[in-house]
Amino acid sequence: MLVLHDISELRRLERVRQDFVANVSHEFKTPLTAIQGFAETLLGGALDDTTNRRRFVEIIREHSARLDRLTDDLLKLSLIEAGKLELEFYPVNVAALVESCVDTARFRSAQKQLTLSVECPASLPQVRGDARRLAEVLQNILDNAVQYTPAGGKIAIHASIEDGQVKIDVTDTGIGIPRDDQQRIFERFYRVDAARSREAGGTGLGLSIAKHLVEAHGGRIEVESEVGRGSTFSIFLPAI
Ligand code: ADP
Repeated sequence: MLVLHDISELRRLERVRQDFVANVSHEFKTPLTAIQGFAETLLGGALDDTTNRRRFVEIIREHSARLDRLTDDLLKLSLIEAGKLELEFYPVNVAALVESCVDTARFRSAQKQLTLSVECPASLPQVRGDARRLAEVLQNILDNAVQYTPAGGKIAIHASIEDGQVKIDVTDTGIGIPRDDQQRIFERFYRVDAARSREAGGTGLGLSIAKHLVEAHGGRIEVESEVGRGSTFSIFLPAI
């Protein structure tokens, strides 16, 4: 008798784990090298350099803030994936949720002369969810829209009801996402342009956290995008 075991799934999981460890190490390496380098420069004499020393310390602070964001996102992701993130479900008013995220994004969008518009019908039903987590999801998508839209562009948030689900669309007139990348951007650390994302302070984990959180609410996220024209991210959540 011959017993055959299909280990291709095991192999795939092992590769995913190895890639993840390599990605995490790579993400930590850049800020750590910068912190070490500037600390050594300061100790090697630049402490007396009154013109540059403040800038060097600011760079150290910036890179440590990046490490802080990375560890926060990684911890959150591991809690979610282990099913240990506790969600507190209550009825959530979508208009209030949208308003609070838009308020937070207003300053940065004004700096880039972006027009922000909101359309949220008064008749919209509530959704059942953890308001804080849903705000994190929407904020991430809205911040990305601001981040990836050149100055003078438009961002529109539109909430509606579709097949018993509340749908929140965030549409921007930004750089867009190539077709082949559209599904992959929800993977951990996947970025269309890694250098650009890092420079902007992104961790590459935001959308994968957002996807997990929305799915934990029984919903889903979709993206439609065209390079050079813009993107629409749609969050679907079950209505009460
Ligand atoms: P990041 O920290 O890099 O923004 P995310 O997980 O939030 O990480 O997004 C992953 C990638 O998806 C980004 O690096 C970017 O390439 C792409 N992306 C996300 N939102 C948009 C958008 N509105 N327009 C264009 N590209 C986007």
